Amino acid sequence: MKRILVAGGAGFLGSHLCETFLARGDQVICLDNFITGSEKNIASFLGAKEQFEVIRHDICLPFDIKKVDEIYNLACPASPPHYQRDPIQTLKTSVLGSLHLLEIAKRHRAKILQASTSEVYGDPLEHPQTEGYWGHVNPIGIRSCYDEGKRCAETLFFDFHRAYKVPIRIARIFNTYGPRMHPNDGRVVSNFIVQALKKEPLTLYGDGSQTRSFCYVDDLIEGLILLMDAPQSVVGPINLGNPNELSVNALAQRILRLTDSYAPIVYCPLPTDDPKQRRPNIQRALDELGWQPRVSLEEGLAETISFFKTILKTHDGCQSIALL
Ligand code: NAD
Ligand code: UDP
Repeated sequence: MKRILVAGGAGFLGSHLCETFLARGDQVICLDNFITGSEKNIASFLGAKEQFEVIRHDICLPFDIKKVDEIYNLACPASPPHYQRDPIQTLKTSVLGSLHLLEIAKRHRAKILQASTSEVYGDPLEHPQTEGYWGHVNPIGIRSCYDEGKRCAETLFFDFHRAYKVPIRIARIFNTYGPRMHPNDGRVVSNFIVQALKKEPLTLYGDGSQTRSFCYVDDLIEGLILLMDAPQSVVGPINLGNPNELSVNALAQRILRLTDSYAPIVYCPLPTDDPKQRRPNIQRALDELGWQPRVSLEEGLAETISFFKTILKTHDGCQSIALL
C-alpha cells in the first residue's frame, strides 16, 4: 500500500486518479483549492475514511504533510477561459505550486509526476509533435500564463532532479476528455456535448479547420500510472495522447450525430494564439512504457455523452451549476 498525494485531486483528471488508487487499496491525500475542481467529483470517495483524506489548500502557499511515497501534480486550471480568468494566479500555481511540491518530494524522497501539457509546444511548427521539439510559444500572449508556467515547471522539475536527485516524471498530456468534465468547463468536447444535448447552437471558434487529437480519460490515467511506475531512468518528458487527429469542424459533426441533435452551428471569433494543429507522436510512450491509447473517439464520446445526459437531467440546465 502506498501513500499518494494527488494535488488537483478534485478536478477532472485528478478525481479519476484518486478513484484508481482507492480501488487498488492505496491511501490517497487529495489536495485542492477547488478553483475548478468540484466536491461532487470526490463525494463518492469520502466514505473510505481510512483511505481518503481531503486537504483544502492553495499550492501557491507552502505546506507540509506526513510522509508520502508518490506525488502527482495536477493542480492547475486546464481550460483556456479558466486559466485566463486570473493569469497571475495560474502562473503562480504552475511555478510556486510546483516548487512547493518539489520541496516536499525532496524532503520525503518521494517520486513526483508533473502533469505537463502539449501547450509547451505552443502553436507548433513541427507536426506531429515529438518530445524533442522545443516549441513555438508566444511568451507575452493571453495563453502564456499557462504555456510558460508549464514550461517553467518542467525546468524546475529537471533542476530538482539534477541538483537533488529527486525522482521526477513529466507527462505532456494532449487534449483529454471524458466523464467528470464540468458542464461549464469551457473546453471544446464538453461545450459541444452540452450544447448539442440542450439543442443550443454549437459555438465553433474560427472556421473550425484547426485540429486537435482527443484522448479518452481511462487511457490517459493508465499512461500516467505506467509513467510513475516506470524504472527510475524514465523521467520523460513523455507525450501522452491519442494521435487520432481531427478538425474541430469534424468533431462538431461527430457530436451532433452521436447525440441525434439538430442544433445549429454558430461561428465565433478564433481566440488569440489558438494553435492551428496538434497531434502527438507517441513513439516514446510506446517504447518506454508499452503504452498506447485503446479507446476510440466514438466509444469515448458515447461514454461522455451518457455522463452529460445524466448530470443535465439532475440539474436545471448547466447555467445553474456555476463553476466559480
Ligand atoms: P481541472 O481544472 O478539472 O483540474 C485542475 C484541479 O486543480 C482542480 O481541481 C482545481 O481546483 C485544482 N487547482 C487549481 N489551482 C490550484 C491551486 N493553486 N492549488 C490547489 N489546487 C488547484 O483540469 P484537468 O483537465 O483535470 O487537468 C488536470 C491537470 O492536467 C492540469 O494540471 C492540466 O494542466 C493538465 N492537463 C490536462 C489536459 C486535459 O486535456 N485534461 C491536457 C494537458 C494537461
Ligand atoms: N473551441 C471551439 N468551441 C468551443 C471551445 C473550443 O471551437 O466552444 C476550439 C478552440 O478554439 C480550439 C479547440 O476547440 O481550437 C480546442 O479547444 P479547447 O479549449 O478544448 O482546448 P485547447 O485549445 O487548449 O487545445
